[in-house]
Amino acid sequence: MGAKKGAKGAVVRPSPKDPDDVVGVNGSASVRAMIEEMDCIQCGGFMGDDNCAGEPCRLAFRRMVAREVTSRVEIRRDPAFGYGIFTQPRKPPKKDDMLKVYMGELMPPYMPTESRYNYSLASGDLADVDAEKTGNWTRFVNSHCRANVDATTQVLGGQVVILFNAKKRIAGNKQVFVNYGRQYFLGLGMQCRCSTLGGTPHHPRK
Ligand SMILES: [Zn+2]
Ligand SMILES: [Zn+2]
Repeated sequence: MGAKKGAKGAVVRPSPKDPDDVVGVNGSASVRAMIEEMDCIQCGGFMGDDNCAGEPCRLAFRRMVAREVTSRVEIRRDPAFGYGIFTQPRKPPKKDDMLKVYMGELMPPYMPTESRYNYSLASGDLADVDAEKTGNWTRFVNSHCRANVDATTQVLGGQVVILFNAKKRIAGNKQVFVNYGRQYFLGLGMQCRCSTLGGTPHHPRK
């Protein structure tokens, strides 16, 4: 799980572009080991065995997401958070649906940052993905202590990515949430504003 390091900004602007691309970090030995050990989320194969085709898997994943998921969610205003991601009434996500890859600028790990859109890949050892300046709709997903979406480090077509997937079926017109994690809020001196304590600001338990 790549804990989100920064925080959601008070001012959230729609991203000027959606570079619907996949973050790739292929350099270090630890990254290669991770890629070789983990199944590709698209084809289920490994890079080492020539099962996974690489770029074709990444393209297939993007087409699948564009066809099946992206039209099912939208950015809406939310009184508590400013903006949030909500499911459309038609065909909302089912349990285990893969929703999107978190996109942003690839940054060196452990760099001090004020960004509230910074996710660490693979617990921070590999790189950070910072969506402050550019990204896709996942940058608008707010935090909730009882999240309905997971953000996990996965391998897709030989590249390491942060994948958002549905933990359960999400009904229509519901907000999509991940849990940024306790460290995120402590690190930024912020509190979670989710509905678990009736909207009272709090630090997440985990
Ligand atoms: Zn593959
Ligand atoms: Zn909370």
